[in-house]
Amino acid sequence: MRQAANDFWVKKLNIPDGVLGEAERLAEIHERHSGDPGTYYLGTPFYGEAEDPFSDLTAKVGDGEAEKVRRIFGILAPYFDRLWEEDGPLLEEWKERLSAIMNDRATQDRICPVLATAYGTDFESATVRVELTVSAPDTCGGRANFLDASTVRLEVSRLPAEKVRWPASVLWHETIHCLYDGALLKPAIRAVVGEDDPMMIHEVAANSFLPRGYLGQEVLGMSAPGPRYMSQLVGRAEEAIALARFYFDRGEALGEAFVREVKGLIESQD
Ligand SMILES: [Zn+2]
Repeated sequence: MRQAANDFWVKKLNIPDGVLGEAERLAEIHERHSGDPGTYYLGTPFYGEAEDPFSDLTAKVGDGEAEKVRRIFGILAPYFDRLWEEDGPLLEEWKERLSAIMNDRATQDRICPVLATAYGTDFESATVRVELTVSAPDTCGGRANFLDASTVRLEVSRLPAEKVRWPASVLWHETIHCLYDGALLKPAIRAVVGEDDPMMIHEVAANSFLPRGYLGQEVLGMSAPGPRYMSQLVGRAEEAIALARFYFDRGEALGEAFVREVKGLIESQD
């Protein structure tokens, strides 16, 4: 959960310090056993249809740690039950709302060909699984590579329903990470930056399209980005968006030349 959502729910559920301490111990256990995306996430057994998720957990982390998790779950359960009572129905509504907009063929037909050109890869069909979860009021946030490479987590429950285009745009952004990043851009980034962290360039590229890049604006009706958009990545988001657009307008995929230009944008801001 992001910090804002975390703070909101701690306050809303009136979770006492002692219980928060237990949650921290759970976080420590999680830290010890979770690796990079795709290796192991401690919560994985609890997302599937496993009949006895604790036996799966025990197999992964051993008796002692699994027992600690079981004890802490017992302490947290009443709070989770209240959270679910409050926001479970909201998440059901979001599921309907987002399924409709994400599976809309006309929207897909406008977005997918652009991404296919930009990322040099196309799909007959592909599926991204989305796990919806609670948010703070009027916020939403997504994370790709949750549980596995084709699962996205989306915090959304407390966003007003009329803002549906925002989480839809965020989901399209995460879809880029799940389905498109790996084909051409990833090796291009590797070739240019070597062992440096590739994520900043992946983020600049994806954000140039969605949520407030040009696909977000043109297809999903998002407003133009404010000054904070991509501010941790590049100084001026408009330059990055224009750069991605420049390549797309020429029908070129985002390859090494694009990566070098983005690297220049990132470096010129500090
Ligand atoms: Zn991203």
